[in-house]
Amino acid sequence: MSSPVSRSAWGARSPRGRTTVAWSRRTGFTVHYSAGPASQTPRRIQDFHMDGNGWADIGYNFLVDRSGTVYEGRGWTVAGAHAAPHNTSHIGVCFIGRDGDATPAAKASIRSLYDEACRRSGRTLARTWHGGLSGNSTECPGADLRAWVRAGMPVGDGGGGGGAPAPSPGAGTLPGPRFDFPLPAGHYFGPASGPDQSVSGAFRRTFRGRTDREWLREWATQLGRRGWSVGRGRTHLARHGNDGVYGPEYRALARAFQRSQGLTVDGLIGRETWDEAFHAPVT
Ligand SMILES: [Zn+2]
Repeated sequence: MSSPVSRSAWGARSPRGRTTVAWSRRTGFTVHYSAGPASQTPRRIQDFHMDGNGWADIGYNFLVDRSGTVYEGRGWTVAGAHAAPHNTSHIGVCFIGRDGDATPAAKASIRSLYDEACRRSGRTLARTWHGGLSGNSTECPGADLRAWVRAGMPVGDGGGGGGAPAPSPGAGTLPGPRFDFPLPAGHYFGPASGPDQSVSGAFRRTFRGRTDREWLREWATQLGRRGWSVGRGRTHLARHGNDGVYGPEYRALARAFQRSQGLTVDGLIGRETWDEAFHAPVT
C-alpha cells in the first residue's frame, strides 16, 4: 500500500475535537461505502459529515477511491463516527463510490489497510461490514463489498472485477472456528419451558460430544468475533454473561441478530440463525 494522502494534502478542515483510542481497544475493522459518485472528494464527504451531520470531523478513519488511492481520515488512533456503538472498537474504512464501483485496486488497498491494522494492533481484527454490526441496520457497504468482506477480503485472482463479485461460499468467511449446527433436525436453542426440541441449557443435555451450554456459548462467542458487544457488562448478555443458559438475554441477542441479518425474528436459535453466524452465506 502506498502511503495515504495526508489530510493537509487533500485540504481537510481541522477537527472540532478528537478522542484517541489505544490499540489494545481495537477489535475490528469495518468496511463502508459512500453510496455517492465515485468522483466525490474526501473534502466534500468531510463537509457533509461536519456541516450536515454536525460531527467533529469526517467520520471514517480512512477512505479509498476507485484507483486504490488511500486518504487519511481520522487516522489510526482516533475514534471514528461510522458505526455507533462500535466507533472505539472498530476502525472504519470507506470506499468512495456506489455498489459495484469497487475495483480490484480499491479492494487491494482496503485489504492492505486491514493487514496494517492487524500488524499495528498485534492481533487479528474481525473483518466486518457496516450492516453486519449490531445496532446498524443499513445496506452499507452494498452487496458487492459485503460479499467480498464475507469471503475474507480476497485480493489478486480472488478479488473479482469491479461489480462482479465471485467469492466462493465458505472461503475463509469469518475469523474463528466454524461449527455445523449441533442439534438434531427441528431442534433449536430456546426456553426451558418449551417442548423437547427447545434446548435451553437448563437440563445439561449433550449433543455431538459437548453440552448444550457449551454450544450456546460458541454461538454467542462467534457473534463477539463478528463485532457484537457480548458478555457481562456489555451491550448483550450484560447481566448473566455468556453462561450458555437460554433466557431473556439470549432471546434478545438472537432477535437483534436475526433482525440485522434479515432473518425471521423469533429469538429462537435454530439452524438458520446458527448458520448465519458461522457460515454467513454470500448474498
Ligand atoms: Zn457505512
